[in-house]
Amino acid sequence: TTPGLDAQPASLPPVSFELFPPRTDAAALALGRTIDRLAEADPAFISVTYGAGGSSRDRSLTVLRYILEHTAVEPMAHLTCIGSSYAEANSLVRQFLDAGITSFLALRGDPPSGVTGPAELGDLGSAAELVQLIHRVQEEREPFSQQRMPGVPQGSRIARRRRPERVAVAAFPNGHPRARGTSADVDSLLAKQVAGATLAITQLFFHADDYLGFVERARAAGVTIDIVPGLMPATSPARLARIAELTGEEIPAELEIALEVEPSEQGQHEIGVDYIAQLAREVLAGGAPGLHLYTFNQHRAVLGVLERLGRMPAVAGR
Ligand code: FAD
Repeated sequence: TTPGLDAQPASLPPVSFELFPPRTDAAALALGRTIDRLAEADPAFISVTYGAGGSSRDRSLTVLRYILEHTAVEPMAHLTCIGSSYAEANSLVRQFLDAGITSFLALRGDPPSGVTGPAELGDLGSAAELVQLIHRVQEEREPFSQQRMPGVPQGSRIARRRRPERVAVAAFPNGHPRARGTSADVDSLLAKQVAGATLAITQLFFHADDYLGFVERARAAGVTIDIVPGLMPATSPARLARIAELTGEEIPAELEIALEVEPSEQGQHEIGVDYIAQLAREVLAGGAPGLHLYTFNQHRAVLGVLERLGRMPAVAGR
């Protein structure tokens, strides 16, 4: 770790983490422990993904409730709108607000393979429309929640829990796989900001210039909200291949080769963590307002990144 940074942890920008809902009881149990460890890093929020079409709704809510009830960390719910009618999307947002979730990552989501017709894609055409809907639903509820909380001071923790603290959206530094042109992703982010997004989180990337160049283009186009870089440590060749498959991102050859030739699991882990820690240093030096770390539901690698940045005390066998 870097002693200089250890001495002034408060000066480091906020971090956040992303989890996905587990599919088995055993995985759910392990995830509880992971969340507890992640909470020790004092993240700004922990976000939980949502299966497009609603396949993970209940499991996502279970994880979000755990974060809400067992930690002091703000839970952020990913929501997708693809395939939903306007009424369905409206009731989905209400259901999450009823559960006490007030921060969202509004996404369009991907259509199931083979689905192309406008009717099957649903009433909301883009994430920007979901951002608007979240704000509208919240505004409709506001007078009601105020009535139910007489005497709760404005701005108190409880009062703030009643309103979306953040409505985040996705951004694509290297372009969305289906974007029509290079400016489409900046245009789309600007549209999300106009709709009321308060924060953007990027798709993962492997070169600082990908992120810094995108932020520069976004700023030139009028995007003023924070654009937080999304980073994921690839701690094995299999993990790296999976990342490429899920995101369509081009994998850096030097990382791929380094992981392939390293024989030990521990060595591969160190390579993946070191790579992302270095990338984090570069984007922070370039002005990134924080770090969003994709965890793959495991705390060791992302906390290792934070240790290298001096954000966490080094703990053997973490
Ligand atoms: P949008 O921003 O609405 O569109 C995506 C892109 O498509 C735009 O950037 C733009 O390039 C292009 N585009 C859209 N509309 C137009 C148009 N009219 N004309 C031209 N181009 C257009 N998916 C899930 O299912 N669940 C999750 O929990 C989830 N979490 C994610 C978290 C992050 C941080 C990121 C980066 C992605 C996540 N995804 C998730 C994936 C996401 O749903 C897909 O990438 C989806 O294809 C796009 O969603 P969006 O919200 O970015 O959509």
